[in-house]
Amino acid sequence: MTPQEVLAELTALQAGDVPTHGGSTMAYVYDAGLAGLEDLAAAAQAAFQWTNALDPTAFPSVARIEDDLVGAAADLLGGGPATVGTVTSGGTESCLLAVLAARERWRARGGSGRPRLLLPVTAHAAFRKAAHLFDLDVVDVAVDPLTCRALPSAVAAELDARAALVVVSAPSYPHGVLDPVGEVAALAAAAGVPCHVDACIGGWVLPFLDDVPEPFDLSVPGVTSLSVDLHKYGYAPKGVSVLLTAEPELRQGHWFSTAGWPGYPVVNPTLAGTRPAGPMAAAWAVHRWLGRDGYADLARATRAATVALAEGAAAIPGLRVVGTPVATLVALAQDGPDGVDVLNLADETTARGWLLQPQPPFAQPGGADLPATLHLTVTGATAGRVDALLADLVDAARAAAALPRPVADPDLVAAAATIDPAALTVPEVDALLELAGVGGGRLPERMAPVHALVAALPRPVAERLLAGVLDLVYRPRRAAPTR
Ligand SMILES: *Cc1c(COP(=O)(O)O)cnc(C)c1O
Repeated sequence: MTPQEVLAELTALQAGDVPTHGGSTMAYVYDAGLAGLEDLAAAAQAAFQWTNALDPTAFPSVARIEDDLVGAAADLLGGGPATVGTVTSGGTESCLLAVLAARERWRARGGSGRPRLLLPVTAHAAFRKAAHLFDLDVVDVAVDPLTCRALPSAVAAELDARAALVVVSAPSYPHGVLDPVGEVAALAAAAGVPCHVDACIGGWVLPFLDDVPEPFDLSVPGVTSLSVDLHKYGYAPKGVSVLLTAEPELRQGHWFSTAGWPGYPVVNPTLAGTRPAGPMAAAWAVHRWLGRDGYADLARATRAATVALAEGAAAIPGLRVVGTPVATLVALAQDGPDGVDVLNLADETTARGWLLQPQPPFAQPGGADLPATLHLTVTGATAGRVDALLADLVDAARAAAALPRPVADPDLVAAAATIDPAALTVPEVDALLELAGVGGGRLPERMAPVHALVAALPRPVAERLLAGVLDLVYRPRRAAPTR
């Protein structure tokens, strides 16, 4: 084959993907909508794609790129003179390392038993993954069911000698609302517990806005670390985030070094060994090109579009906006018992060419449950299309209101209640998924009933089935016949 033929095959593979550009995919992708950005990022990435960021002494260019990115983040997000940081592969890795660093600090200070990670339930799922990987107990802390903000009193009630870290979000991914960072960080500091601000999604937007209700960054007393993703509103291609720590000792806690093998001495700042430098170089190039003014213009235009979108959506009968969105995310919920079911609404907007993310209802500890929501991430490319989006939302809401409310099959729910998920074999999970309508790993056109089922199942069963979907999606394509 010629290289052209190979590339044509690759391009053909993308035919079934959601669009990465144009602003209609309002989760997963971030399109600034600026001509020239993509070519610049691609050229920067190409120039560094063979470089190994594993060793910044062999590749001093990489150290310089990382120092510039961390410095820019510290300047933007309230870093003090002692602030340091690490460039990671994404938000999840930044969150993982923040938890690892806090656990190491807790141990170094004599913590005994199992460390606890205090999570307002709206904190990103990446922190649950961190607790799973690094052996911490998650403490689910209820949020205010109306504002969806963390409750300082609920956090305070859990601050004990085993608390290794408290997390707050700026803003939270599910609802785009700002946690009371100052209050929570002060409580944590008084108890001698570090406090991480997850600004993965908002960290490159909020600093440019003049209507942010309260301070949220490293300048807030008690905040010890902060994560911010450049592959979100830094408008860099995938694979780059920054974890800032208020002081170098904390950063040492997530670094790993060993001289305990006969190979080269190993010092890894992140989870990876060999590290791609391409995404960092692309982030550096986009940052250098846009500059503070470029980002400020984008953030303000996108924020204005978000405000217009939220106002327009709140005016649609049967829908309401959850809490007070502070950045460029909006969550819509059913307004009143006769309002529009947002899981049905998600299917109807999908049919109209948008990807808005359905978020199932959530049972909080203490019983003040959170409603199902529809999540919209507004980026530069969506900003110019708010009127079209609102028109489609109005139409989709009308269509969704005419649909039966999605309910989980009661027989399936009753059967699932008796299942021990840990005992299920892979074929048994496959069979259950078949019953649930997602056989063969192909998702049905209407997802509302599936989301309703996920919400109705015991959480461990739902989690086992979700992993089962991936098991069906990822089936190796073998050239040789298999028996
Ligand atoms: C996106 C996000 C993460 C996780 O980041 P990934 O880059 O998807 O790994 C963590 N926290 C928040 C608030 C996010 O929006």
